[in-house]
Amino acid sequence: MIADQYDVFLFDLDGVIYCGDAILVGSRSCIRKLRALGKKIYFLTNDPRPTRQELCDRLNSMKIPVSKEEIITSGWATAQYLAENNISDVFAIATEGFISELEALGICTRMDVSCQAVVVGYNENANFIQIQQAIRHLEKGSRFIATNADQSFPGQNGRCMATGAIVEMIRMVSGNQPLIIGKPYSYIFSIVFRRVIPGSRMVMIGDSLETDILGAHRQGIDAILLSKDKLCFSSKYDYRMPDKIIPNLLDLFKPDVKVKCWRHPGFLWPDDVKPGVAAVIFNAQHQVLLVKRNDNGLWSLPSGHLEIGETVVEAIKREIQEELSLIVDVKKLIGVYSDPVSQVVSYPSGVTTHFITLSFLCCITGGCMQADNREIAEAAFFETSHLPTNILNMHPQWLTDALANQSFSFFR
Ligand SMILES: [Mg+2]
Repeated sequence: MIADQYDVFLFDLDGVIYCGDAILVGSRSCIRKLRALGKKIYFLTNDPRPTRQELCDRLNSMKIPVSKEEIITSGWATAQYLAENNISDVFAIATEGFISELEALGICTRMDVSCQAVVVGYNENANFIQIQQAIRHLEKGSRFIATNADQSFPGQNGRCMATGAIVEMIRMVSGNQPLIIGKPYSYIFSIVFRRVIPGSRMVMIGDSLETDILGAHRQGIDAILLSKDKLCFSSKYDYRMPDKIIPNLLDLFKPDVKVKCWRHPGFLWPDDVKPGVAAVIFNAQHQVLLVKRNDNGLWSLPSGHLEIGETVVEAIKREIQEELSLIVDVKKLIGVYSDPVSQVVSYPSGVTTHFITLSFLCCITGGCMQADNREIAEAAFFETSHLPTNILNMHPQWLTDALANQSFSFFR
């Protein structure tokens, strides 16, 4: 049975243990049975509004005995993060419950003075003036921290705005990328990791693919979805694909039910997919043109991404002209590269992108090479047998494909 496969069980709350004010079938009995088996249990919720004590009281009133130490809310986790990082003055969009978790760790939430960080949780009375104030603080250099990124939740009369919707408004206007504490991001899970014996077999049980399942898999933890629906996924490597779907928590104790454990597919889960272009350009000595990029300090083939309204040929010609002041002609398509294992790239901003890149053989027809220092530190021709060692890991393959000089294009 599944209960025997793990030492530590992480439960989401809303939609798993209870739904609104109603306790869900099997949850009380499930927690009791796991305790009888000596299992460790934690409850991880993205809801930043209540304090841990309030949730503890609520579960106890539902006759599910828990201790405060077993409950980890995104609000309390955010307070932990701030305290660990010596952030003691914040501008907070938050409920009284969340503010009391902050104040319990000595974090001030004054509204009228400068602050070290803007902290966004949920407050249904949040208004445009507060959101505008948050943006002003970010413009003055405050850090941007959010409890979670859930954009909406189901209400009695339809979808309701959640923390992520407020975060998105601030992100769009300020251009600042927030650090997000809750699921599917790592910090909330790191609190659990610190409390369990290293090597413990751990599973997350939740009802959300985007937070519970994705979050667990990003941390290398197995993930079980509580659902009665059948699901379809576009890729067998989709991080949001649960390792098991169960309709009821009591399935954890059925003798013939087991979880097929999560195997990391070898790439980070991207935030978005973007079309990209690259150029292989040889000089008369058959040396290849490489550029050293400012953003990562690595050598690469000249490359960039497609702007709205461009063809791929227009995109590569524009990139070369902008970055190197060279005019090029496109001779042929060498290959299309989409394998996420090599095509997923993470940036210092925290954003991870999956590029689908078309690589073209190009030749120089005009211009005088001059690197645009905003993006390129250096540009030079290299012998194809002596490439620099600090080159983007997938580009030697693209060059090998170009040197193969085939009449067809590669699809990798
Ligand atoms: Mg849930």
